[in-house]
Amino acid sequence: MEFPIIQKNWKKGMHKVGIVYPNLYYGGVYCLGPLILYNIINKLDNFICDRVFLDKGDVSKYDLVGFSLQYAPDYYNFLKMRKDCKGIVFAGGPCVNMNHKTLSKYVDFFVLGEAEVVMEEILGKFEGNKEKFLEEIKDIKGVFVPGKTKKESFAVVEDINDINYPLYQPFPEKIDKSFVFDKVFMLEIERGCNFQCKFCAMPQLYGKTKYRSLENIKKIIDDGLKLNKRNKVMIYSASFSHPQRKEILKYLIEKKVRFSVPSLRVELVDEELLQLIKKGGQKTLTIAPEADEKARVKLGKNVKDEKYFEFIELANKLNFETLKVYFMVGVDENLDEMIKLIEKIKEKFKKRTYISVNPFIPKPRTKLEEKVFDKKDIKQRIKYLKKNLSKIKVKFSGVSQAESDWRLGLVNQI
Ligand code: SF4
Repeated sequence: MEFPIIQKNWKKGMHKVGIVYPNLYYGGVYCLGPLILYNIINKLDNFICDRVFLDKGDVSKYDLVGFSLQYAPDYYNFLKMRKDCKGIVFAGGPCVNMNHKTLSKYVDFFVLGEAEVVMEEILGKFEGNKEKFLEEIKDIKGVFVPGKTKKESFAVVEDINDINYPLYQPFPEKIDKSFVFDKVFMLEIERGCNFQCKFCAMPQLYGKTKYRSLENIKKIIDDGLKLNKRNKVMIYSASFSHPQRKEILKYLIEKKVRFSVPSLRVELVDEELLQLIKKGGQKTLTIAPEADEKARVKLGKNVKDEKYFEFIELANKLNFETLKVYFMVGVDENLDEMIKLIEKIKEKFKKRTYISVNPFIPKPRTKLEEKVFDKKDIKQRIKYLKKNLSKIKVKFSGVSQAESDWRLGLVNQI
């Protein structure tokens, strides 16, 4: 049993919408995209909406089935689940916003951009007849009907404070350890990112960062915690750059709730911020140097190694227990320099360090979209890292060889 759910009584003439997260439930519950639609659609009189996951729910039950595509590896599950859909199929989410064309064959319409400003208008045209419906929505800003829409357009939220927040965030009443982030209330404080890392799609997807006002955030915290009966908050943001981030954390501390923050841009961190994070009960910090300094700066992430070392000193001083450090391969990094950096980070941080290394996959609409993806070279780079890091007793995680092969294969295909 999930709590809290939006309960609606079935009336004749109502339409059923399934919003699908095409992966496993225990991870999907933490995704805000499907929750946004679940909350919006259930506010509409003639519609009733459920969330569906790879391992929960049945896509064949719905008049409209909307897939939220967050990660490219989910395309495989999407195709698997698509086969069972009987209703009209639509798709949205970051992957679709980056490149919807590859999926045109499998989707009746796409929602491009920020769905919350356009979903009500779209569904308002639905009466049951597919052809009539697609014809009527084809020119709505943010809708792309393959074969009918002439020009791509994106729905844009002008002021993030003007849109309703997805307050209903159902979780099972009892969770086990597979729900790694615990039972949380998800709090989106900002959308987009003002940094310009060339490999990242975030700045292209949302443009300039949209910040929620402190007043709005406080209200969401009050209402969200009360409705969901949670005592932990997961802060949703790409780079945690909100100008009032300290005030937000202070408010959560005042409310006596625990919280977690996302990966940190070290140049935005000072001792006071880390102290607040510690007070909120977080024991692990996450940073992403991505590569050696020279390659990092070329990638548009203009942060010197020294800044990471200063951050580690602060983390030591405040006694954080774990440091997670993310790197990529396949971005013209100098592997020997990267190994030296990893060694130094391990030496400097007094407690546990986790190193994660992932293959770089060029993303459409980013400055590196044209970069040649060389599967063989990436495999060799991972092998070289493994060999040399094991000499200095550093193990790293990332995608498994099988998953990596699969991802690389997928990228080659689409
Ligand atoms: S990698 Fe992070 S900091 Fe860089 S642009 Fe993307 S979201 Fe922003």
